[in-house]
Amino acid sequence: MLEKEIQGFIEKLRTRREFLKISGKGITTMAVTASVLNLLGCGKSGEGSDTPATVTVTPKGILIAQRNRCVGCQKCEMVCSIKNNGKASSYISRIKVARNYNYGLTMAADYATGEGDYGNFLMTQDACRQCKDPQCMAQCPAKAIAYSETTGTWTVDTEKCIGCRTCEHACPWNMPTVDPETEKSGKCILCGTCAEHCPTGALQMMPWKEVTVRLEKKGYKLS
Ligand code: SF4
Ligand code: SF4
Repeated sequence: MLEKEIQGFIEKLRTRREFLKISGKGITTMAVTASVLNLLGCGKSGEGSDTPATVTVTPKGILIAQRNRCVGCQKCEMVCSIKNNGKASSYISRIKVARNYNYGLTMAADYATGEGDYGNFLMTQDACRQCKDPQCMAQCPAKAIAYSETTGTWTVDTEKCIGCRTCEHACPWNMPTVDPETEKSGKCILCGTCAEHCPTGALQMMPWKEVTVRLEKKGYKLS
């Protein structure tokens, strides 16, 4: 069973990476288990180690987000907004943690027993899923969101953006955020700054070379 799961994960990594190379588009996030994290050498033992984590396949490597490591310090939000907007602001940060503090990703009816500070204390680091058919891009009236070959992400052109906030509402996860001061929208461009500064390793950016080496150490090949 474990072997099947690992082989399945490696196959998904391989095909998504190949698809990215061919089409240049289609970055995807997938949920992974503790076994896969251990395979990559970044699992955490002890209570909560079976909490699902996510792996996002990017042109440069993979971004690993582990909720059971997140302490909600918001450092990711601060460094993200400083890097991308030139000022520290949780509100406009492209990675969202604070807004999920109390009730998790959605304020579900069972919030007192569910996710977040009022439930199981699990913090959620949330960012753009880089959808295959992004509604933020489709619904933008100014055609300000387009695929960037440089970053491999759906990116806002601030010259074109008119600050109408359509993208905020069009995104099923409300990921783009219009800066109230500049009236320009912004969303994750996978710069990796959040992961670089995360003090607990809850966010990690692993280049493809490193992924290959780690898999090989465990006897698996990526390509
Ligand atoms: S901002 Fe939302 S709709 Fe646009 S690509 Fe990201 S997750 Fe998809
Ligand atoms: S806020 Fe900017 S990027 Fe978002 S839909 Fe409006 S014009 Fe497009």
